[in-house]
Amino acid sequence: MHNRDAVFLEDLCPKLRVRRWRQSLHSFTGKSCIFCGKPSESIDHVVPQSRGGLSITENCVPACLSCNGDKSDTEAFDWYRRQRFYDPRRAMAIRAWMDGDLRLALRLLQWAQPNNSNKEKIPSISTDQDWTLQAA
Ligand SMILES: [Zn+2]
Repeated sequence: MHNRDAVFLEDLCPKLRVRRWRQSLHSFTGKSCIFCGKPSESIDHVVPQSRGGLSITENCVPACLSCNGDKSDTEAFDWYRRQRFYDPRRAMAIRAWMDGDLRLALRLLQWAQPNNSNKEKIPSISTDQDWTLQAA
C-alpha cells in the first residue's frame, strides 16, 4: 500500500480530496438519493450555490441525476414538498443533515426506506469524525 503517497497526493491535488469527500457522502446513504431513494449519482446543494449555499457536508446531499436536475436552483424543501415521492421522514432527515446530525439523518432515512436492503450498507458513524471538512 502507498498510504503515504496518497496523503501526499491529496495535499498536492485538492480535487482528489473533494472526490473522496463526495464518495463519503454517497456512502452515508448507501449510495441512494436522499430525496427519492434511487441510486445517487450526484451531489446536490440543499441551498443552491447561486443562493450562497456552501460546498460543505451540511449543505451537500447525495441525489440522483433526476432530482438534482429537476430541483435545479430551487430551494430544496420548496421543491421537495411538491414531488410525488415526498416523504416527511426524508424531509426531516435532510433537516437533520443540515444541522450536522448525520446520525439522526441516517436513522430517519433507514426508517423511510421501504425495504431495509440498504441497512447493512449504511456505516455507523463515529462521533469524533470531522464533519467540518470543506470542499476546496
Ligand atoms: Zn432522486
